[in-house]
This record gives sequence, C-alpha cells and structure tokens, in this order.
Amino acid sequence: MPLLARMVGTPLVVEVGSGAIAALAPLLADRRISSGGHVAIAVGPGQGAQIAEVLRPQLANADISIIDEGSVEEAMALARRLRSGFYDAIVGIGGGRVLDVAKYAASISGLPMVAVATSLAHDGLASPVASLTEGGRKMSFGVVMPLAVVVDLDYVRRSAPQMRRSGIGDAVSNLSAIADWELAHRVNGEALDGLAITFARAGATAILDRTDTIDDDDFLVSLADALVLGGLAMAVAGSSRPCSGADHEILHAIDHLFPGTANHGELAGLCALFVTHLRGDAEPAAHLAGCLVRHGLPTRPADVGLTNEQFAHAVHHAPATRPDRFTLLEHLALSEEEVRARVDAFAVALDR
Ligand SMILES: [Zn+2]
Repeated sequence: MPLLARMVGTPLVVEVGSGAIAALAPLLADRRISSGGHVAIAVGPGQGAQIAEVLRPQLANADISIIDEGSVEEAMALARRLRSGFYDAIVGIGGGRVLDVAKYAASISGLPMVAVATSLAHDGLASPVASLTEGGRKMSFGVVMPLAVVVDLDYVRRSAPQMRRSGIGDAVSNLSAIADWELAHRVNGEALDGLAITFARAGATAILDRTDTIDDDDFLVSLADALVLGGLAMAVAGSSRPCSGADHEILHAIDHLFPGTANHGELAGLCALFVTHLRGDAEPAAHLAGCLVRHGLPTRPADVGLTNEQFAHAVHHAPATRPDRFTLLEHLALSEEEVRARVDAFAVALDR
C-alpha cells in the first residue's frame, strides 16, 4: 500500500495548565529536552525577574537573560551567546516578544526551542513565524517550530484583561483570512490547503459563540487551544496564509502609520470585521461583531482612537505591506476615495 500522507512539523509537547513554570525542570528532563538543566532562558522585562526567581532553585545550570526590544539585533545577540556556550535548548518564557526573539535565535543557532506562554494575546505561541522589528519596522520571519509549547494558566489568568481579550481578536480573524484565501483560489487559482483551513477555522469557531469570558478557566483553555491550532495551521500551510489576510495587512499598515494604536489582536478583530463587512457578508459580519462586542473588543476605528480618515488611509496603504498576498483589498483595488466611502459606510452600519 502506498504511504499517501505528509509529515508536518509540530511541537512534540503541548501542555495547557496551571503550574507549568514551577514544573519546568521536570518537563525538560521527562521529555528528554535537557536532563541537567543546561538551557538558556529568555524572559521579558516585566515578570522576568519574578519568573527567574521561581526557576533558580530548580534550574541552577540555566543561563537567564532579559529580552526587552523584540528586535532582530537582540535575537542575533542571543544567538551569538547560544553558540558560545553549551546549551541543550533555549526556553522563551513570556508573551509574544520574548517567544519571537527566542524562536529566531533558536533557528539561527540550530537549538531546539521551548515556548512557555504567560499570555494569550496572539497566535504566535505555536507558530513557525516570528514577528520582530528591524530598523524600526515590524517584519515577519519564518522560523523553526517550537519543540514544546507550554501555556501557564496561572500567569495567563493574571495577565491584563486587554491581553487576554486580544487573543480572541487574533483567533476569530482567521475566518476572514480563510475567506481571502478562498477568494485567491477562485480568482487566481492559488492552491488551498484543506488541512490548514480546518485547523485555522476550528480554532476560530471554537471561540466565536462562547458565552463564558476571559475570567473563566474553561474559556482560557479554549482560547489557548485556538491559538495553538492557528500556529499548526501556519505550520501545515508553510506560511501565515490561513491566519493572515486583508485584516492583517490593514493592521500592519496601522502599526506602521500610527504606531502604538492598539495591540495586535485588538486590531486583528477590528480589521477582520471591516473586511468581512467590505466583502458584503452581512451574516458573518454580524456574528463576528457579536463576539467582539461580547468580549469588549473594538469594533469601530474610533474605539482604538483612529478617525475614519486615518483608518481609510491605513486600508489604502495595506496591500503595500504584503505585496505577495492576494486578498479582497487587491481584488477590489479601490481608490482612496472609494476606500473612504466604504469605511464611512462601515461605521454607519455599526451604529445601527
Ligand atoms: Zn495575528
């Protein structure tokens, strides 16, 4: 019988639960990642010192460094340190920035990477993509998949509500990204990947209709699952395609034109809602808006402090952020005036 299957690079370990950081040393040993604890650990500037405190007694051989910029330069410096020592693995503990720096450094130095997430703000925890700044600009890089992904719910529970909400926006934005991919298939014959779509959609729909909140453990577990599934979707597709369409093009344009407007997932939800509206999908748009409103996420430009004009400017600029990706924006190719009219119509529709 022919073996008609494919191999997908996924983490060997995925664990979502309480007490993960406190039990890190046994996990590294049990999973044969590092028996003697000779690992490099990267933590963030916020909770980093406290996490280092928890780890010291159990990982006396670990080398702990603080990551604060999330830049390529910082990741390169970390990679140089990794190459000059003898480490079994690099362990990134924190939110997006630390994990992305650790993933990039692991890729360059050829070491396995363990991602320990202390927040659920976006789908980068289990993805083969790192988002880092280079020369002041945010860029995405293909990197190795983490060998192990651990979500510590004790830390997630204590993370700012805004951070927990943000992951919801990033997870549900997959639905708009998938619609963009399907459009590219219909219009340009771009190949779809059904498995990647299944993973990305399953994560999004698991969150979309939930009535419990970011203060419930069950919800946080589902949110972690959704974000891990998003990462796996990207691993299957070999790109961010299943989780990043016109919505992410617009949010990258907002990050570029109006830095500091809001965090990744908040913008992903808002931009996905706009694109779904632009697509003319009334029912999915209402469904998505219901989810965002229920969790207190932004649904209109004014909610993130942007005027309609500024938001329209970002929408018009969005295709330039990702020249190789065909989405609804490239398909419609609206003029700046047309974009402005669509943004105004979107804001009016939301006010009804
Ligand atoms: Zn995202």
